[in-house]
Amino acid sequence: MISSEVKPNFKVRKALAISLFLFIAAFLVFIHFHQNHLRSEMANEIKEYAKIVSNSLWTYERNSPNAYLSLAMRANGHQSITVVDDNEKVFLELEGYPRSKMDSFLSLVGLIPVISLTSAIEYEGSSIGNIDVKWPCRAVYLYMYIVLCIILLMVGIGLFLKLSESKELLEVRVRKRTLELEREIKEKKSAESELKAQTQRFSLHLKHTPVGVIEWNHELKVKEWNNAAERIFEYSRDEAMGESAFDLILPPKEKKYAQEIWNKLISSSGGTHAINTNHTKSGEEKLCEWYNTTLKNPDGSIIGVASLVLDITKQKLAEDKVQQYQDELEQMVQQRTEELTRTVQALKRRNFEADTMSRLGDLLQACEEDKESYAIISSLCEQVFSCHSGFLALYEEGTEVFKAKAVFGEFPNPEIEFESKDCWALRIGSTHMIHNSELNAVCGHIDKDELENRYGLCVPIGAKGELFGLLHLLWDTQGRSAENCELEFKNIESLAKRVTELYALSLSNIKLKAKLHRQSIRDALTGLYNRRYMESSLKREFARAQRKNTGVGVILFDVDHFKNFNDTYGHEAGDQVLRGLGKLLIQFTRSEDIATRYGGEELLLIITDCTPEILRRRAEEIRKSIQELPIQYNTETLKVTVSGGIACSPDNGTGPEAVVNAADKALYKAKEQGRNQIVLAAEENSINK
Ligand code: GH3
Ligand code: MG
Ligand code: MG
Repeated sequence: MISSEVKPNFKVRKALAISLFLFIAAFLVFIHFHQNHLRSEMANEIKEYAKIVSNSLWTYERNSPNAYLSLAMRANGHQSITVVDDNEKVFLELEGYPRSKMDSFLSLVGLIPVISLTSAIEYEGSSIGNIDVKWPCRAVYLYMYIVLCIILLMVGIGLFLKLSESKELLEVRVRKRTLELEREIKEKKSAESELKAQTQRFSLHLKHTPVGVIEWNHELKVKEWNNAAERIFEYSRDEAMGESAFDLILPPKEKKYAQEIWNKLISSSGGTHAINTNHTKSGEEKLCEWYNTTLKNPDGSIIGVASLVLDITKQKLAEDKVQQYQDELEQMVQQRTEELTRTVQALKRRNFEADTMSRLGDLLQACEEDKESYAIISSLCEQVFSCHSGFLALYEEGTEVFKAKAVFGEFPNPEIEFESKDCWALRIGSTHMIHNSELNAVCGHIDKDELENRYGLCVPIGAKGELFGLLHLLWDTQGRSAENCELEFKNIESLAKRVTELYALSLSNIKLKAKLHRQSIRDALTGLYNRRYMESSLKREFARAQRKNTGVGVILFDVDHFKNFNDTYGHEAGDQVLRGLGKLLIQFTRSEDIATRYGGEELLLIITDCTPEILRRRAEEIRKSIQELPIQYNTETLKVTVSGGIACSPDNGTGPEAVVNAADKALYKAKEQGRNQIVLAAEENSINK
């Protein structure tokens, strides 16, 4: 933080570096010029030496230049001075003082160059010799000195910069710290005032809170006791202060428990939550909820316990009441749920029953015969009645008994048959319940042993005043309440009624259909098949005979003088005759023969698999029987005769039309021959021939 605020003075350092660079450049230039200067200075000096030597030569004084040059050598530190004449003869040779170690080192590294200087020695304008001087240039010492000074200067500047930088840094830090201190002081002041306000607020809270706030010292004696605590326990603050909890608010029975809580609190940090019974100053018992927290010094030593206490006596009572209501409500909800479940199950069951009844009801409606309906009604009863067993019996005309047509469940006797007097339901014409063999009338068709722990029900099956049969059911009641049994009985009874109604309707339909069919193919007066049926039967029988390569015969009867009969006895009597003839013909025909009313008083009999002889025999039989048939009309017994014509295939034709025509012709012949006789078509043909 500080380092980022107080950055090193890079500009100054850069300026210093540039200055240093410039200084080095200037210094090198200086060295260059200084060297040249020294060299020219020294050259001038050498010229002076030459002059001295020239003067001496003129007087031939060797000592004088020797002394001078020695002096010069000492002064300038020359390495050697040699004076030679024109003939290269050495006039004077001086060796310099031995060099110091530093000199030797600097010479070795080339910092003290030895410069050779020569000057001509002139006398009266002409050269008489030379003076050669070897001069080691020790300017390096000056340069070193200068460099040292510069370094010292730079170090000085650097130190100065560093110092100024440190000073700046220090100043920033001081400023920063000052600001921090100021802020801290401010915060401390605001915290102090906040603390003060908080303390005031806390005191107010303590005073007005509905929660009892009590502080106990380490001996469980009251140290703080607020207004709410006064209200709860009825002790004033002054009365409570310094008192032990055991004396003040704990009833004897709670002391042990309270001691345990106290031990727990002072032995470990944290808090406890407890619900205790306490007593007040007036001795009233109160249920209190306690939240206790251990109080500690910063060094960890326990100084006491702070407790928050709530008087929950009323709340507990209310809670108990709420709990009671809740339990009651839950019970009600459970009951309601069970009821709803039962209702849903019942509805599902009803739906299933309705669905099954609708589905199988459609099938029943489509039945053509009673027989077809047995399997369907049996399946319907199996599906909709969750019964132990049962049967469905239908009334059989002729035998006058009820015979089982469908049994279901575990019913033991599938061949059961009984009369209507054996069933109370059939006797009274409505449903009959059997659940106790001692009190109720038990039907004769029921085995009493089967009634143990079972209910039974008989429902008559009938529609439009006609009784068709009986539905009988047995179901288990063991382990069920009487109420349940009664309920189930009602359900089964209602369902059984619906099933029997449905079945009765179906049976009624079947019978109606059969009746309509009969009416559509039978003649109402005679009960014989009508002409339309005759025509279709002839076609069918001829086709079949052709396939089987057999013959079909027809006998055509006509009542003799029937017009006269009508005229004599009346039309009604004539009808009676026709009814009687119809009955007789039905009696005389086999199941495979077809007796029909061909026209007004003309009757036609179709006989399969026959020969002309058989035909004749049968026709004769019938004719004779008719002749002897007494017809009762009012008080009179009337009689008629018939004539008959016989024809058969293939002798009299291969198709129905040809054969019937042949029979008609034979009949005509019979009439012609005197009536009350039978004529074979073959005979008729032969006569014609
Ligand atoms: P034949 O011996 O030649 O056959 O003489 P017939 O009188 O029987 O012949 P006809 O054909 O002249 O008369 C037929 C009569 O049958 C006329 C009609 O009144 C009578 N008849 C036809 N149908 C019925 C009927 O349904 N009821 C009554 N009562 N009479 C009928
Ligand atoms: Mg006729
Ligand atoms: Mg006739």
